[in-house]
Amino acid sequence: MSVGLNIQENVPMRQFTSFRVGGSARFFVDIENVDAIVEAKKFAKQKEIPYFVLGRGSNVVVSDGGYEGLIIRVARGLSHFSFEDNLLVAGAGCPLARLARSSITHNLGGIHLLAGIPGTVGGAIYMNAGAYGEDVSQTLLQVKSLNASGNVITRKNVDCEFSYRHSAFQTNQEIILEATFELKPSPAEPLLAEMERVMSERRQKQPLEFPSAGSTFKRPATGFPGALIETAGLKGYKLGGAQVSEKHANFIINMGNATAQNIYDLSQFVIDRVKENSGVELTREVIFIGKF
Ligand SMILES: Cc1cc2nc3c(=O)[nH]c(=O)nc-3n(C[C@H](O)[C@H](O)[C@H](O)COP(=O)(O)OP(=O)(O)OC[C@H]3O[C@@H](n4cnc5c(N)ncnc54)[C@H](O)[C@@H]3O)c2cc1C
Repeated sequence: MSVGLNIQENVPMRQFTSFRVGGSARFFVDIENVDAIVEAKKFAKQKEIPYFVLGRGSNVVVSDGGYEGLIIRVARGLSHFSFEDNLLVAGAGCPLARLARSSITHNLGGIHLLAGIPGTVGGAIYMNAGAYGEDVSQTLLQVKSLNASGNVITRKNVDCEFSYRHSAFQTNQEIILEATFELKPSPAEPLLAEMERVMSERRQKQPLEFPSAGSTFKRPATGFPGALIETAGLKGYKLGGAQVSEKHANFIINMGNATAQNIYDLSQFVIDRVKENSGVELTREVIFIGKF
């Protein structure tokens, strides 16, 4: 089936990424359905360029020099969702926060504490996003994805290789299309109260007033990134327009005029200084694409 793809050229990526920095994508397409993804992949193959799947861009920084390929954005299309008993089926482009809130009104728990994560279902599964003891892998039953050969396949939870901020999708080049979550029946009122408590904790502890991509570093085997960064004396440290947040040291924030390079360089500086100071090697949770 032929789908008219609206592929645009030289599209600034700062508008589609939560850090609000970075250059342009050589090609960009907002997909509406699975056929459009197939066509977009074909386009990249014909042009012999790489492609990158973008959700809501809340964990991605594009280099100031841009991305020399095709950005396939799955955040406007594939945003359907429906509940049946305790099962929730959601398209990859659906905002996780919307599902978290909606699940509460359906008297279902299990993803309600993920309401503060500003990504899509696809991005959350790819990252195995989590917060306050809940992560996506705990309630996910199965995922439909488009594999490298162009077939739509279904993976059960056990075949997704979930671990802390990790899934099989980080290496298998599959594009996530739809997920089914198995939630727990529970009265709405306590779920709502719990969700509101963690949302208020986020507002108190996280610098939500500045653009960022949430936690910059993953939790290492020992210690917490925030404490390690603070002990290395880097809380509030600035590099160009980027800063290690005064409010939460594991957040690098854009103070308004940061470049993507400022953010990358500051994250590298933090990695080096923490390693010198405590011997722990932090690894980035934020994904940098293009040349740095
Ligand atoms: C203020 C703030 C708070 C945050 N808090 C948390 C938190 O508490 N816990 C947490 O885990 N994260 C948190 N994050 C980070 C981020 O929101 C999550 O990682 C989120 O899951 C990313 O989803 P996204 O749609 O924005 O993905 P993107 O940032 O667009 O992409 C992330 C990765 O997923 C891949 N991807 C996206 N969609 C698909 C798809 N359909 N198929 C295959 N691959 C895909 C991309 O290629 C990319 O590699 C926070 C970010 C911000 C800005």
